[in-house]
Amino acid sequence: MTVDLRDFIRTIPDFPHEGIMFRDVTTLFNDPVGLRETVDQMAAALGDQKFDKIAGLEARGFMLGAALAYKLGIGFTMIRKAGKLPGSTISEDYALEYGQATVEIHDDALDAGDKVLLFDDLIATGGTAEAGIKLIERLGAEVTLAAFIIDLPDLGGRAKIEKMGVKTHVLCA
Ligand code: IMP
Repeated sequence: MTVDLRDFIRTIPDFPHEGIMFRDVTTLFNDPVGLRETVDQMAAALGDQKFDKIAGLEARGFMLGAALAYKLGIGFTMIRKAGKLPGSTISEDYALEYGQATVEIHDDALDAGDKVLLFDDLIATGGTAEAGIKLIERLGAEVTLAAFIIDLPDLGGRAKIEKMGVKTHVLCA
């Protein structure tokens, strides 16, 4: 029987601001079945697609992105918020669902031509994923798939990323 990951995700109203219905995946990560199923379902969805690296978006994209990279036997690249990476970086500014932010990647983290799976827990407006894709492309690599656990379709992020020519996969559509 397929485990429904939605059963492990709760919605917290008015976090981090009034009017936001926050999808909380800490309960999914906290559960041994939920955690393993998420990684296994994502790995199964990838089929025989091959990637050189997984790039995860801080911070919830790190946990499962790293677990998936371990399972696939490939490296994991961190895309972090500004000022966190110690080496030489490139950066992209973007608008959030609530606010403004900057993400960075080490400028030697990827090789030109690398096929990259971009991973995050959730896509809302798509601003974060778009910034991540731009960073990866500026290093000469290619995002061949952007994968998420949750999509908030009303906010249009997934459609925006697909319009950029990047394929997407969502576990809880
Ligand atoms: P976007 O840039 O508007 O697509 O927002 C997606 C980013 O914000 C991701 O890095 C998510 O982790 C985070 N985010 C936005 N809304 C939620 C939510 O309801 N639950 C968990 N993360 C969220």
